Amino acid sequence: MFTVVVEGFGIGQQRQVERTFTVPFSQLQPTMQTIAQQGGRITAMKAAGSLAADSAPANPNAAVEAPAQPAAPQPAAKPAVSHAAVPVNTYKPKDPFIGTVTENYSLVGEGAIGRVNHITFDLSGGDPQLQYVEGQSIGIIPEGTDANGKPHKLRLYSIASTRHGDNMAGKTVSLCVRQLQYEKDGETINGVCSTYLCDIEPGAKVKITGPVGKEMLLPDDEEANVIMLATGTGIAPMRTYLRRMFEPAERETNGWTFRGKAWLFMGAPKTPNLLYDADFEHYQREFPDNFRYTKAISREQENARGGRMYIQDRVLEHADEIFAMIENPKTHVYMCGLKGMEPGIDEAMTTAAAAKGLNWAELRPQLKKAERWHVETY
Ligand SMILES: Cc1cc2nc3c(=O)[nH]c(=O)nc-3n(C[C@H](O)[C@H](O)[C@H](O)COP(=O)(O)OP(=O)(O)OC[C@H]3O[C@@H](n4cnc5c(N)ncnc54)[C@H](O)[C@@H]3O)c2cc1C
Repeated sequence: MFTVVVEGFGIGQQRQVERTFTVPFSQLQPTMQTIAQQGGRITAMKAAGSLAADSAPANPNAAVEAPAQPAAPQPAAKPAVSHAAVPVNTYKPKDPFIGTVTENYSLVGEGAIGRVNHITFDLSGGDPQLQYVEGQSIGIIPEGTDANGKPHKLRLYSIASTRHGDNMAGKTVSLCVRQLQYEKDGETINGVCSTYLCDIEPGAKVKITGPVGKEMLLPDDEEANVIMLATGTGIAPMRTYLRRMFEPAERETNGWTFRGKAWLFMGAPKTPNLLYDADFEHYQREFPDNFRYTKAISREQENARGGRMYIQDRVLEHADEIFAMIENPKTHVYMCGLKGMEPGIDEAMTTAAAAKGLNWAELRPQLKKAERWHVETY
């Protein structure tokens, strides 16, 4: 519910009186239109209760009778995301699982910036078996020692394969790893673990920990809507969701038939840096009613202001549709990638929300509390 304070609305003397209306989110926009049509000026607006608790207006003024709107679906009685059967920390750093590399290939095309590889590990022979679900991460402990002669600490990587693994045998895990490289004092520094992984050969043994993480789990509801905001290797969890939703072998096996709407926003600097692009294009062709794929290619596309096209520009472009989806309690938003993407997305959501007279700083925690706003940035 939202409380809207209005001045100058009504007729005669009444126009001067400040008035307050409490309306559900689904009727906010028509109410604001009616207020504007009748010469009112909104002086304040704030959330009055839970976003999900959408219902009939508590005290609508007769003159502001909003046009009939379809009632927003009620929130599910049970939590949106089930955490119960999610494995965590099967293998800890003191006693990691030793996996074997089966594949390591480049995910980027010619002319791409940097290196990003898809790396698969065989998990068979584990006792207990290392199992995981979509949206989790694993830890990798690189070979060798740090500057103090101590064994390297683990680094986390988002899992890029579904629980069935890329080969559907249920005993592999895949990662999508970008080699960290930066310049310092005129020297190129290579990240320890990302370089170790990008250079690793099939057959090599690797120390694996985990799985960990419950922030990025998919909702159980087959009719949920899923908005995905990814930059770079932040695509890893999104690939697991999209394979689970649209890959034929997955659909046959997983006992979960996605029927909602999935919308992927993917940010990359150049076309050859788009990861798993052909798969996503294919899903979009095969499931046009269920999957939409929107790319922001910063060094090739221009935003409305003539600047580089970043993912937040695409969010702004589609703000109306995104907010219409968010209004539905079945919609979940997932964000993953470098930490640097967060302020841009936040700014875009703030602007988009304000255009609808909403306060994103108030809305976001409500979505988070309802387990509908999922962020994993690093
Ligand atoms: C939950 C989670 C999921 C993740 N998922 C993925 C994933 O799917 N794919 C992926 O590739 N990575 C992922 N990461 C990041 C990953 O864990 C590592 O941090 C990354 O691979 C770098 O590790 P490294 O050992 O190569 O770098 P390190 O050798 O550990 O170097 C990193 C350090 O270098 C320094 N540094 C970094 N950049 C600069 C710079 N520009 N200038 C100066 N100093 C700098 C910083 O001190 C930084 O701490 C994830 C991280 C988290 C927390």
